[in-house]
Amino acid sequence: MSVPNGSAQAAGSTMMDLALTFSNIINGEARGGEKTTRAINPSNKQLLWEIPVASENDVNDAVNAAAAAFPAWSQTPWEERAKHLERAREVLLGMHDTLASLIMQENGKPIQFAKMEVDHSAGSLAYNASHPPLQPRVAQDDDELRITVRYVPMGVVAAICPFNYPLVQAVAKIGPALVTGNTIIVKPSPFTPYSTMKFIEAVKDIFPPGVLQVLNGDAQTGALLCEHPNVQHISFTGSIAVGKKIMATASKTLKRVTLELGGNDACVIFPDIDISVVTPQVAVGAFLNSGQFCMACKRIYVHEDIYEEFKQKLVDVVKSWKTSPSTPDAGNTLGPLQNDVQFEKGKSYIEDSRKNGYRFALGGEDTYYDDKSYVLQPAIIDNPPDDSRIVKEEPFAPIVPLLKWSNEDDLIVRVNDTNTGLGASVWSGDVDRAVAFGQRIHAGNVTINHFPAPHPNAHLAGWKESGLSGEYGTEGLQAYCNVQTMQCFKAPVGAGSAEAE
Ligand code: NAD
Repeated sequence: MSVPNGSAQAAGSTMMDLALTFSNIINGEARGGEKTTRAINPSNKQLLWEIPVASENDVNDAVNAAAAAFPAWSQTPWEERAKHLERAREVLLGMHDTLASLIMQENGKPIQFAKMEVDHSAGSLAYNASHPPLQPRVAQDDDELRITVRYVPMGVVAAICPFNYPLVQAVAKIGPALVTGNTIIVKPSPFTPYSTMKFIEAVKDIFPPGVLQVLNGDAQTGALLCEHPNVQHISFTGSIAVGKKIMATASKTLKRVTLELGGNDACVIFPDIDISVVTPQVAVGAFLNSGQFCMACKRIYVHEDIYEEFKQKLVDVVKSWKTSPSTPDAGNTLGPLQNDVQFEKGKSYIEDSRKNGYRFALGGEDTYYDDKSYVLQPAIIDNPPDDSRIVKEEPFAPIVPLLKWSNEDDLIVRVNDTNTGLGASVWSGDVDRAVAFGQRIHAGNVTINHFPAPHPNAHLAGWKESGLSGEYGTEGLQAYCNVQTMQCFKAPVGAGSAEAE
């Protein structure tokens, strides 16, 4: 992570609450560290709070504490574990505005979306706290044999999180891991550690020591967790490239992995929609969080009959938004990209499109806000070729290609022509037609007539290089468990049973 030098403290203090401190939480205790770092506020490139970087010793202590806590926690009844989550949710709601402010400052998203992220985190905890216990499945039960399949917690979970939705991604791992009886160590992104660290610090006394811990660190810290022999499961959300590395590391000990990775989701628009209703929603689906959303509409395919009208309306909607650095009073809809790597990557798609002579329906000029933030103005590329970078790759930035289609059979080939398969959305006045088309898409989560929005009860499991296993929903809880099958034969084997017959 690169950070600017200089006296950032003073400049950043216009927004920072300097009284805040941040610690790793290990075995129920707040712990500092010899090595510290500071993340950046992408709205002004100023340094944020000092925060310890977990050492190898911290990683070992956390894993040992998690392993020691596991037997008692896994034997605690599900309903009791759920009550702990409910209490954690109450604490989270009690610090709602502090967490929202941290999210805005660390991630850069506008304050109203930071508040929504806290709300969604509370919703995720509520979902997992109210989910009924996973019941054993009876596969067979006759005179001779009863076969049951039950779900058993795995042990120590390492949760490795991305920068784009820092709190909700962490909480989406904490809830299901804990309610199913695992213990968990969370490693936030080094770009956005603050909201997660503060939340876990605030709820640490609700849980027995070692059950819920947090370690700040970078790729090296993540790798130490992934290599540790006493970690049983890795729940990772992030890029495809790192997901592959994690899977390679996990293969050494055959750890279980859940990989929630990148996507290049198609958004398909049929000609029978009401453009004035659909375009504002598609705009949100494409540009929310400045495009830094795994399930964003990343390729928008519009039927040729309405292409021009749809394009104009989409441009009008996005133009009506304010794009700027995020402050509590900014009134912006789009904020900056989260870090310099994302910013440079986003710019490269603008430059590539310019260089290749693609038309910009929006943007392309005055792309950069200023040199004091990572704000990139939104852009819509008008019908670029299918093999262009902007169509083939995931920009994770506010740049979206709009593509024309005329024939469903051709379209489905284009939609499925990708190494990813995370999600997709389909829009039509004829719901059956949209569902039928959605079923032909090779992706794990298809949304009909709404912008894509992860829901705690809607399982999300990417196909192809978008991941392995999944999160959310009952299947997401099962993913934190080993399966034990028991074949119980009914013929008596007790002493004297043969004579008794
Ligand atoms: P990233 O892969 O760069 O980093 C994610 C996390 O992995 C960070 O905490 C990082 O420190 C850690 N890490 C890096 N190298 C590691 C290693 N070798 N071993 C262990 N840990 C390591 O991802 P990012 O840039 O933070 O997030 C953006 C990506 O995440 C996008 O591609 C996006 O699509 C994806 N994403 C997917 C979902 C989903 O549900 N599928 C959700 C959100 C984001």
